[in-house]
Amino acid sequence: LTSSPRSPGLHVIHIAAEMAPVAKVGGLGDVVTGLGKALQKRGHLVEIILPKYDCMQYERIKDLRALNVVVESYFDGKLYKNKIWVGTVEGLPIYFIEPHHPDKFFWRGQFYGQHDDFRRFSFFSRAALELLLQAGKRPDIIHCHDWQTAFIAPLYWDIYAPKGLNSARICFTCHNFEYQGTAPASELASCGLDVHQLNRSDRMQDNSAHDRVNPIKGAVVFSNIVTTVSPTYAQEVRTAEGGKGLHSTLNFHSKKFIGILNGIDTDAWNPATDSFLKVQYSSNDLQGKEENKMVTRRNLRLSTSDVRQPLVGCITRLVPQKGVHLIRHAIYRTLELGGQFVLLGSSPIEHIQREFEGIANHFQNHDQIRLILKFDECLSRRIYAASDMFIIPSIFEPCGLTQMIAMKYGSIPIARKTGGLNDSVFDIDDDTIPLHFRNGFTFLNPDEQGMNIALERAFNYYRNNPGVWKELVQKDMSIDFSWESSASQYEELYAKSVARARASALAN
Ligand code: ADP
Repeated sequence: LTSSPRSPGLHVIHIAAEMAPVAKVGGLGDVVTGLGKALQKRGHLVEIILPKYDCMQYERIKDLRALNVVVESYFDGKLYKNKIWVGTVEGLPIYFIEPHHPDKFFWRGQFYGQHDDFRRFSFFSRAALELLLQAGKRPDIIHCHDWQTAFIAPLYWDIYAPKGLNSARICFTCHNFEYQGTAPASELASCGLDVHQLNRSDRMQDNSAHDRVNPIKGAVVFSNIVTTVSPTYAQEVRTAEGGKGLHSTLNFHSKKFIGILNGIDTDAWNPATDSFLKVQYSSNDLQGKEENKMVTRRNLRLSTSDVRQPLVGCITRLVPQKGVHLIRHAIYRTLELGGQFVLLGSSPIEHIQREFEGIANHFQNHDQIRLILKFDECLSRRIYAASDMFIIPSIFEPCGLTQMIAMKYGSIPIARKTGGLNDSVFDIDDDTIPLHFRNGFTFLNPDEQGMNIALERAFNYYRNNPGVWKELVQKDMSIDFSWESSASQYEELYAKSVARARASALAN
């Protein structure tokens, strides 16, 4: 196995199911890469472990090679061989685990959404820890993410720390409490965890179904540090309405639970260097933004006759969380207001996908509305660059990255005040907020009226105050959404936790 040279900082290993750009479904992928790079820049040794999916973007992995070792890991009472690959993504060293299991866990042409996801990812979590043990790694922090790698926390303390992989503190980040990965308790045994010990109300037992285990709950209970992705969402999930059944667990463990707002990878999301754009631009040169608007409208077969016609963008997974009914409403309302609308999105939920396909077909040859129902990173960048406004009418939003990316590209957010949107979008008419923080349009009630008022205010500013609008665009493009400040908060949490562990080791 490849060795890990010591660096003066901490040794942090992220174990995750996603990483941008090679294996990205949503924000989780962006966070693993963005936080990893920021920590690396601050002098820490950062390594990442991912499943070796067949559907990754292999062309974006540098120096990919198989190691001449086989790591055997336990599952269903047997040992299975795993082939280990290494490579570099965005300058970060990655281990890819390829299980030689007859179920071909990561050879499905898809990242998630398989009937055996619980098995696939509990297998992966165990194999990742086995890799660390056999490689003789002594990380300071093992950072796992979402339910897919939440198994790491109980596996580490129950099985791997006793085996000698005992240098680490466990940090768990939940990117969305909606997805908890619960399963019948007996399924936990496959990866070697003790069902009897763990299916207890103070451990992994689901709070509402007592014959089921909840990986997220397990990670909250067994990790040293638990974070989520914005301060407002951290508050929301501690309430009965927002906690998706886990509020009592989070309140019980509140001392180790904190919300840290995600940053964005400002190397990756920068209109001045974005090679997918027709023309690069910056806040000092907005002519380039106009050219992108022109080109993208032409490519999408939208009318280009009026340069000053506002273009509203929306880039999202089409799931109820994102306020799909309000997105649909915004399409029609934008048309009534004389604007143009571009939606880039896709849905894992069949009836929603079908509904939006219906709308897309309806507007197929329309010159003001375009719906593109697929995942397309290149097009997403062109839409961020082309649009004047960007809607995010989420019902709840743990952090949300699209509002920050939109602002970086000079597209003004129109967002519902919830979760991370509440921590990053501040209404330009809200006198309670210092002027220099105000950067967009917000609304509180997740209904059509709330959305309408915000959209209309945005249109009025755009049309009647072009000077003010331009200043707003320039201001939003200059806001620092980099990982710097968030990474320093993670660094502080890591360092405190490691220091506490060392102090208690000395005391014993
Ligand atoms: P979530 O993680 O809930 O999907 P976030 O706002 O945190 O939402 O992150 C969404 C990320 O995925 C952003 O980088 C956004 O640009 C990207 N994205 C979402 N849908 C698409 C799509 N259809 N095509 C390309 N990129 C998309």
